Amino acid sequence: MAERFSPVGEEWFRGIFEASPDPAWIIENRRFIDCNRAAVSTLRYPDKRALLGAHPKDLSPELQPCGEASAAKAKHMIGLAEERGSHRFEWTHRRADGSLFPTEVTLSAITLLDRAVVYCSWRDLSDHDRMAQALRESEQRFRDFTFASADWIWEVDARGRFTYVAGNVESVLGYTPAELIGRTPFDIMPLEEARRVRRLMKDIARHQRSFSDLHNVNLHKHGRLRHSVTNGMPIRDASGAVIGYRGIDRDTTALRERDEKILRLAYYDALTGLPNRILLEDRVAQALAAARRNQLRTALLFLDLDRFKVVNDSLGHDIGDQLLVIMSKRMQSVLRASDTLARLGGDEFVVVLGDVKDAAAIAAVAEKIIAEVARPVSLQGQEFNIGVSIGAAIGPDDGDNFPSLLKRADIAMYRAKADGKSTLRLFDGSMKAQVMRHLHLEGRLRKAIDNGDVDLHYQPKIRLPGGSVPGVEALIRWRLDGALVPAPLVISVADEGGLIGALGDLVLSKTLDQVRTWKAAGLPAPRTAVNFSAHQFSSAQLVDRMVRAVGDRGLAPQDLEVELTESVLMADQACDIVDRLHAAGFLLTLDDFGTGYSSLGYLKRLPIHTIKIDRSFIRDIASDHRSAALVEAILAIGRSLGLEVVAEGVETREQLRFLVDRDCTLFQGHLFSRPLAADALQQLLQRGPEAFNFLAGAGCA
Ligand code: C2E
Ligand code: MG
Ligand code: MG
Repeated sequence: MAERFSPVGEEWFRGIFEASPDPAWIIENRRFIDCNRAAVSTLRYPDKRALLGAHPKDLSPELQPCGEASAAKAKHMIGLAEERGSHRFEWTHRRADGSLFPTEVTLSAITLLDRAVVYCSWRDLSDHDRMAQALRESEQRFRDFTFASADWIWEVDARGRFTYVAGNVESVLGYTPAELIGRTPFDIMPLEEARRVRRLMKDIARHQRSFSDLHNVNLHKHGRLRHSVTNGMPIRDASGAVIGYRGIDRDTTALRERDEKILRLAYYDALTGLPNRILLEDRVAQALAAARRNQLRTALLFLDLDRFKVVNDSLGHDIGDQLLVIMSKRMQSVLRASDTLARLGGDEFVVVLGDVKDAAAIAAVAEKIIAEVARPVSLQGQEFNIGVSIGAAIGPDDGDNFPSLLKRADIAMYRAKADGKSTLRLFDGSMKAQVMRHLHLEGRLRKAIDNGDVDLHYQPKIRLPGGSVPGVEALIRWRLDGALVPAPLVISVADEGGLIGALGDLVLSKTLDQVRTWKAAGLPAPRTAVNFSAHQFSSAQLVDRMVRAVGDRGLAPQDLEVELTESVLMADQACDIVDRLHAAGFLLTLDDFGTGYSSLGYLKRLPIHTIKIDRSFIRDIASDHRSAALVEAILAIGRSLGLEVVAEGVETREQLRFLVDRDCTLFQGHLFSRPLAADALQQLLQRGPEAFNFLAGAGCA
């Protein structure tokens, strides 16, 4: 080529040389003898003078990145260029300010003006390096993200065989990437799943489409199922033909398990695993819809366990929970697969019967459930007898939606409870009327309490022999439109309407006012008993209020007796309140003794002064030897614990005879006196023991 240069050629060469945007040099004897403007500016020198005559090592760091000394490497590279005609390599240069930068150097041996020189040009690789660095970083980032997530990435060839696998595949599926290469994704799926996904993939591949969110199931190396979601896209060669797929697999097993758990929590009861109220509502809606289409009837049975609360409260929630699980299994066992058993909460369950012909069909199911539940259960060495009361409503007759059917079945269930428990009651219109009446009563009672329009009658407790009256019991009497509303109904209306606190306060203040009046009249006022119900016993201020109420009237706590039933004692903190009442000086009577669950336990634990044998035992004394034996036993227990025992509901001389013969000395009942208005009682008290003289004839007084 050299011979083609002429002086004109030299100018021409110089023109190009100077105009080149890349630094260019002429090297002779391993020294730079000339350079262009770009070289000067790239190295940030003021002009080329300082550069001419320099050795390449002078413009370089001592060592090149490969570790070789710049001087030696330069010699070597120039040698190669001279030998081969040209040579290209990477070189790091140093600027005037000492900073380094990478270049790609091309050396070409040429003859210039008859001198054998080396033409040297540089391409600045800083940008290129930055791009390569950015690429490396982006790859690293991608790898990090992949490894940090539960994802794994893959490529398959046109036949679907893995050609590249990376990421967390081993922790997800148990296979190393190497173990998967050459296999297909279908090899690690359950058979059915493989078939399904293969069909899908075939279709996707035929259309050369990308795909996303393909849910699929894989088999872990050790057999467990793993859920994943796959996204993929075709890999194309330079001509655009699809030569495989690449994509990313995300392990969703944990997510799915969480979703399933949330679903379970949302629709199923955690303790029994039965459908909860939400799912129940849905099932009932479905059953009603199907019933409408097919002209069928749907029955909704409301079940409430009898005596469950007693077990739960006295023996703890663990036992209570176990009992609920056992009972739910028993109930389930007598139902058809198409029936739904759901738990509403607590000891309340609901059964939905999708297709019932008549009431007899409901009764048949209810009987089976009642029988199953009634079988004794033994838990932790104790035997329990639980019952279940069932109320049923039938759709669409009693209601064509879930809330109204549930409400009506609930009403019927209450009737079943009231009618002696462990039985079935079907909803009927009269029950609704009764509920309406209840609601109506509630409003009227609220007004009566506000106006103090509730009366008390007092029933004496008589001691024999002698006929003295050591105590009376205050009993509520509420007249409505001329008729007396039964006391238990008043209490239950008050309880349900949230009026019991106000009613209790009214009863207490009226009683105390009455006692003060009797005392003021110079009567030997008997100790007066007031009944308390469970809701009154949840107030922490009860004791203070009572102490104040007594003191305000110049009375002493000993003038008042507190009658409690065992159901009252089951309320939270009730035992604590009882202790504090006792400490304050009030006397405590356990009412309806023998009907509760663990009467003896309470006697041992609590500072009880008196027990009242429940009226039901006294009633049956003469006819039922078990009642008789129980009464005898209660009297014996009372004696041995030093408690007063009152026989309640004594109506006949026969009953009295039996009790007197067994050393019972305190009585309350119609035989002696019905509950009386305050002035009538006052007259009775004024007559003294002779009031009960008529009993002398019975040999009792
Ligand atoms: P209790 O505390 O066991 O009261 C005794 C009940 O037996 C009273 O019914 C009384 O009239 C009745 N009785 C007494 N002797 C005889 C008898 O010889 N034969 C018959 N058949 N019955 C007799 P009452 O007044 O209807 O009260 C029923 C229940 O209502 C009471 O049972 C008590 O639990 C509750 N109660 C009454 N007044 C109040 C009150 O002021 N507050 C609270 N919380 N409950 C009350
Ligand atoms: Mg009582
Ligand atoms: Mg009683």
